[in-house]
Amino acid sequence: MTQPIAALIVAAGRGLRAGGGIPKQWRTLAGKTVLYRTVEAFRSHPRVDRIVVVLHPDEIDRGAELGPDVLCVPGAASRDGSVRAGLEALAADPPGIVLIHDGARPLVPARVITDVITALHTHDGAAPALEVIDALWTGADGLVTGVRDRSGLWRAQTPQGFRFAAIHAAHRARGDRPAADDVEVAREAGLSVAIVPGDERNLKITRAEDFARAAEMLQEDNVSSIPDIRTGIGYDVHRFGDGDHVILCGVRVPHGRGLQGHSDADVGMHTITDAIYGALARGDIGQHFPPSDPQWKGAASEVFLKHACALAREMGFVVTHVDVTLVCEYPKIGPHVPAMQAEMGRLMGLDIDRVSVKATTSERLGFTGREEGIAAVGTATLVKA
Ligand code: MG
Repeated sequence: MTQPIAALIVAAGRGLRAGGGIPKQWRTLAGKTVLYRTVEAFRSHPRVDRIVVVLHPDEIDRGAELGPDVLCVPGAASRDGSVRAGLEALAADPPGIVLIHDGARPLVPARVITDVITALHTHDGAAPALEVIDALWTGADGLVTGVRDRSGLWRAQTPQGFRFAAIHAAHRARGDRPAADDVEVAREAGLSVAIVPGDERNLKITRAEDFARAAEMLQEDNVSSIPDIRTGIGYDVHRFGDGDHVILCGVRVPHGRGLQGHSDADVGMHTITDAIYGALARGDIGQHFPPSDPQWKGAASEVFLKHACALAREMGFVVTHVDVTLVCEYPKIGPHVPAMQAEMGRLMGLDIDRVSVKATTSERLGFTGREEGIAAVGTATLVKA
């Protein structure tokens, strides 16, 4: 049988060390108060049924902003006294399990909460902690006075979870003697407390630099949760020379002149290839296939396009759409567009309705208008899969 689980969040302190001139639990962290974020971590956890927050008596009115499902209880001068006030409030309709948590640990991962609950199947109490890794010194007056053995030492975090009746009785028995945390109270009452893996994200915001670190972590989360959709742009020009055809977007188009270039001079395909490199922010064709390298002389431009697509895949992206406009007076592009879409789509693994090929003249203006060459401009849209 699953037992009702209550979260008891302690936020009655008036800690001003985090700066800002207001208690740290009411300071704003990336648009929401620290305490709101802490409450949210438990509200969004599927196993947590009820939330009680212990507030400083002067701040009890602010409890409403935490949400209508939160019961706010006035706390006491000490942390232990505040925990006891919260436990007494819960005792009216006692849950099976209580998770006692610091209001200043807003980034507690759901995994940590789950692990604590799971460990309570087999233990009276359970709490997250991290092994001490740094060397430990004693010091005085700016000097190291000794080195302590760090083996077997843990940095305690919260939520500290207990069977409700057991921790309630333990707190009542302890009375007003101060304790480091609820685990100390539990152990004094003979309860066994399991250690579950803590998390560096579950930091307790105490000093100004903790605040900055928490904000940084949230920003990293935001950046990684925004879909990574990118657009790259390409532009290319090739000059007319002798010949009887041009290659445009992979299609041979008969024409009284040819296009000059180191490769097959496919100005349309080069443009799309550069747009893909652009979306990936990985240079351009010239960097990947230097014109000075004789092996690309007369090369079919599909080598370049396939390389760009492979690089996109390697970086976790899918090309979802390309659009290119060819700028020339002649040859006439329109009749060849379906073949160009089909060939570009085949090379990139795209349906033709995601391959746009258009053409325009430049009204006889400029180098394209004088039929000295063909220009192309285009975009590629890539989505991180
Ligand atoms: Mg080119």
